[in-house]
Amino acid sequence: MAEVLLEKVGKTYGNDVRAVESVDLSIRDGEFVVLVGPSGCGKSTTLRMVAGLEEITDGRILIDDRVVNDVHASERDIAMVFQNYALYPHMTVERNLSFGLERRRRHGSRLRALLGGAYGRARREETDAIRSRVRDAARMLGIENLLERQPRALSGGQRQRVALGRALVREPKAFLLDEPLSNLDAKLRVEMRTELRMLHGQLGATMIYVTHDQEEAMTLGDRLVVMNEGVVQQVDAPDRVYERPANRFVAGFVGTPSMNFIEGAIDASGRFVAEGISLPVPDHFIPPATGGCTLGIRPDAFRIVDASPDALACTVRTIEYLGDRVDFIVESAAGQLVCRTEPVRDVSEGDQLHLAAIGGGVHLFEAGASGVRCAVRSDTGQE
Ligand code: ADP
Repeated sequence: MAEVLLEKVGKTYGNDVRAVESVDLSIRDGEFVVLVGPSGCGKSTTLRMVAGLEEITDGRILIDDRVVNDVHASERDIAMVFQNYALYPHMTVERNLSFGLERRRRHGSRLRALLGGAYGRARREETDAIRSRVRDAARMLGIENLLERQPRALSGGQRQRVALGRALVREPKAFLLDEPLSNLDAKLRVEMRTELRMLHGQLGATMIYVTHDQEEAMTLGDRLVVMNEGVVQQVDAPDRVYERPANRFVAGFVGTPSMNFIEGAIDASGRFVAEGISLPVPDHFIPPATGGCTLGIRPDAFRIVDASPDALACTVRTIEYLGDRVDFIVESAAGQLVCRTEPVRDVSEGDQLHLAAIGGGVHLFEAGASGVRCAVRSDTGQE
């Protein structure tokens, strides 16, 4: 198993497409790290540079202390699983699983021919070893009963399992997975997510996983690497990314529905003010010296309360009933906001509501679309 280290890694395509900017990342042996961010943010490029499928423009990548910048993909001892399973359509599942190993064996066969009489025995031992690896992988993935089938006779989920199996049998130092579940329907994706997590637990393997789906990232990763426009925004455990987002981008990207943002300033009395709005701010944040800032409120940090100077008056525009919870889309002096609560039956569209924002779901950011989260007073014991 492997440690993977990226030092100031950058990638420029052609003369001017800067896809990845100075990524520093240290992935521990056996860790499950998820690169997550919107489409085009440089996740796949980063993964492909680790795999050796893309040249590195700047910086260094080390796998187990060995600089691999100039090491060919096939020499990196890494297995990659893609979104499109790329199975061989004319081969059975068993052959799909064993093919890579057999090909490697063929490459070594000249050497073995020199071994003379020992060759036959070595070959039989290898055949047995390959068969047993294939059976082990098939058992782990629950596809033992499918070994004789061809890919066209498999469902999407089964095909993706075979693709994973093909990586497993190689027993690589690390697994790189690029949106491997994106072609599956929503229910299957959630099931496979759980299976992948369990598989990681069983194997203890280093896994680097790319997805644009923040929920998938949160549920899978030991740590997330949140990227935007080629730049790493935050590297942290899922709960820390959610509870202490490094900046407004991360805060808005992680969590469903997205965090509400209201731009304004802190007044002399320490309250957050914007046109038609005055709200208290959690007192553990140190407001920016300039006064200008953005208040961030997670939808589930809102409570429906009686009218008060600390509550926001709004009108309910839409109600989205989700069974165990309800999303209210409301109009306020701060524009449109989303409030998520437990089911409330006596509220209708067009009603007036008062919302108070409380607890850890309320954040303060420096002004601007990429404002960093304001520092927190260390004496408050909040963080
Ligand atoms: P992601 O995986 O986050 O969707 P990518 O790493 O695929 O993002 O792409 C990052 C940026 O690099 C995008 O702007 C994309 O258009 C660009 N890009 C990716 N591959 C190439 C390529 N082969 N040639 C030129 N630009 C590319």
